[in-house]
Amino acid sequence: MPEVESLARFLQERCVGKTIARVDLAAFSALKTYDPPLLALHGLEIDDVTRRGKYIDISAQGLHLVFHLARAGWLRWKESQPEAPARPGKGPLALRLVLADGSGFDLTEAGTQRKLAVHVVAEPMDIPMVATLGPDPLGADFDRAAFAAVLAKAGRSQLKGVLKDQRTIAGIGNAYSDEILHAARLSPFKPANSLTETELSTLYDALQSELRNAIKRAEGLAAKDLKGEKKSGLRVHGRKGESCDVCGGTIAEVSFADSSLQYCPTCQTGGKLLADRRLSRLLK
Ligand SMILES: [Zn+2]
Repeated sequence: MPEVESLARFLQERCVGKTIARVDLAAFSALKTYDPPLLALHGLEIDDVTRRGKYIDISAQGLHLVFHLARAGWLRWKESQPEAPARPGKGPLALRLVLADGSGFDLTEAGTQRKLAVHVVAEPMDIPMVATLGPDPLGADFDRAAFAAVLAKAGRSQLKGVLKDQRTIAGIGNAYSDEILHAARLSPFKPANSLTETELSTLYDALQSELRNAIKRAEGLAAKDLKGEKKSGLRVHGRKGESCDVCGGTIAEVSFADSSLQYCPTCQTGGKLLADRRLSRLLK
């Protein structure tokens, strides 16, 4: 989410007050709504760009262009967009937005998974995934008590899943949930309602500082540099086999069917290796 927050700020600086000249759809599967049509955005002036969880909401005179980049999606800002409309094709381009001054952005998606999602709505709450978003961890009212209530409600669910669940807390993905748990020195599999008061405070502080520091690091970076910055700022996520920069131990991994998590056994689980969920399922 920090990079989505940074992207929203980046777009806010460049788009607010400008008029949408046109929006081209290059990957039909990306557009999840049909009424109002994309065409309805043409000629509207952008009045705000905000983040809702991991979604970016571009608001223009009563309509909203809301998109979720998903894992392989990204936004490329262009000072000068081509004049010819983008054609549907096999490339990574999903959608192109052109402003009246000729600048704009492309939404692209690498690989073959088609997860990038674009919605055109009058009311963002009409998008089910937006309507069910939990509280924003960077919101003014998300204090320690609000976080304690979220964890209590999650019962014995594991911390990793609770942090990542957009309906519980909006905006934290696979990478930052690993980082937050590492900073708090807590096992990803610890039940949410089993934390001591001290652990709860530590986790709340880690959540706030990991997200805010990542946003600070990304400040002022161009959209194209945000992904690289995200990767270099991570201390455990995606770093299996590397040494932990807190304790020097080796970072370990747990694999699931379609994702994995990384953690430091020395810092987080008292040296104990967590069972690999994918392997143990195969062995049964
Ligand atoms: Zn460590």
